[in-house]
Amino acid sequence: MALRATGLTHDEIFAALGELKANDVRWRDGRAFTLTYNAGDEILAVAEEAYRAFSTENALNTDAFPSLRTIQAEVVNVVTDWLQGGPDAAGFMTSGGTESILLAVKGSRERGRKERGISSPNVVLPTSAHAAFEKACYYFGLESRRVAVGDDWRADPTAMAAAVDNDTVLIVASAPQYPQGVIDPIPAIAAIAADRDINCHVDGCMGGVTLTYLERLGHAIPPWNFSVPGVTSISVDLHKYGYTAKGASVIAYRNKKLRSYQTYLTDNWLGGLYGSSGIMGTKGGGSMAAAWAVMNFLGDDGYMRVTAAARRAAEELVAGIRARPVLQLRAEPDTTLVAFGASDPNALDVFAVADALWRRGWYVDRQGPPPSLHCTVNAVHDGKIPEFLADLDAALAEVSRASTTGTQGAYGTID
Ligand SMILES: *Cc1c(COP(=O)(O)O)cnc(C)c1O
Repeated sequence: MALRATGLTHDEIFAALGELKANDVRWRDGRAFTLTYNAGDEILAVAEEAYRAFSTENALNTDAFPSLRTIQAEVVNVVTDWLQGGPDAAGFMTSGGTESILLAVKGSRERGRKERGISSPNVVLPTSAHAAFEKACYYFGLESRRVAVGDDWRADPTAMAAAVDNDTVLIVASAPQYPQGVIDPIPAIAAIAADRDINCHVDGCMGGVTLTYLERLGHAIPPWNFSVPGVTSISVDLHKYGYTAKGASVIAYRNKKLRSYQTYLTDNWLGGLYGSSGIMGTKGGGSMAAAWAVMNFLGDDGYMRVTAAARRAAEELVAGIRARPVLQLRAEPDTTLVAFGASDPNALDVFAVADALWRRGWYVDRQGPPPSLHCTVNAVHDGKIPEFLADLDAALAEVSRASTTGTQGAYGTID
């Protein structure tokens, strides 16, 4: 398709963009249990205004944009404070959880190569660790050694220790893992890494903000951050439970030495010395400014409030799943991620339930094995759960009447 010969007007453009959204999931109304996070119109407005104010600024070179140097430093400092990182902790803002994880894996490979001469590195990680680790291993030429999780879906430290060898450069744990929403036994896993003086990454993409504030709200949270000896890096996605605009995550390291393995410098071209902190070259200021703005707008008391709202909704959903015997909760959620399947998978196809929910305007994640539905419950769902459960009942009735089978769907698509 060639570009139109003459441009549309401003009004025509925004009318057309509005129309394009017509069939999208209505996330502002709390209809999406994945992909979007929303703590209300006021916070969305702060994020969007800050994004607009910095959408053309470029953090590739902060000599030209000292504003973005300050914004990045302040955001990273707040996150390392959340993570109990102490004065030596250091990090960078990235475009999202995947970039943070890619960098943690690349930094581990680099450290193994430089400090121990490892040429065929491997990563030991539970089967529950995010697909982004698989992508990182594929991109950067490491072997992914997946180790089965236990019956409680948590990583099995004994089996992980057995999978480690002299070429292991990284051990991974999650707080919480995405599929069933449980926290891995991080002290035991980090101890394996500490014994061998290798990297241990905690994937806090989902839990980084939520666990910090659940703990401040008085929930008993097992140790998971830099307070655990042996943890070398942690990823925290601000564009999830930080409730900021898309394109914002932090990769945090225990110290600058560990961080140094992720950065890249070259002068082997005709354009002079080129350094970059992460995967991207041009690094848009919009998502960075939006993160700074939302974090400072909410403050500690704001995050307490939105975290409590998300947790309240998650607990309400859990109670609703428990009250429906045809459904089976996969695990008591450690944060706000709720996964469930069929009590009898031969009698009920949960993907057909997801299809029936989507016909009613609700979008839930489909995952497996085993076939499960997954709800990333956040602040927008506070007060929405009764309506969801009513439609869930209607969906269950429809599916059992017709004994339909559903489509498996995907966490991410490639078109
Ligand atoms: C979302 C997520 C990621 C990947 O983050 P993106 O922002 O989607 O790139 C990694 N790990 C966990 C646990 C996640 O929830």
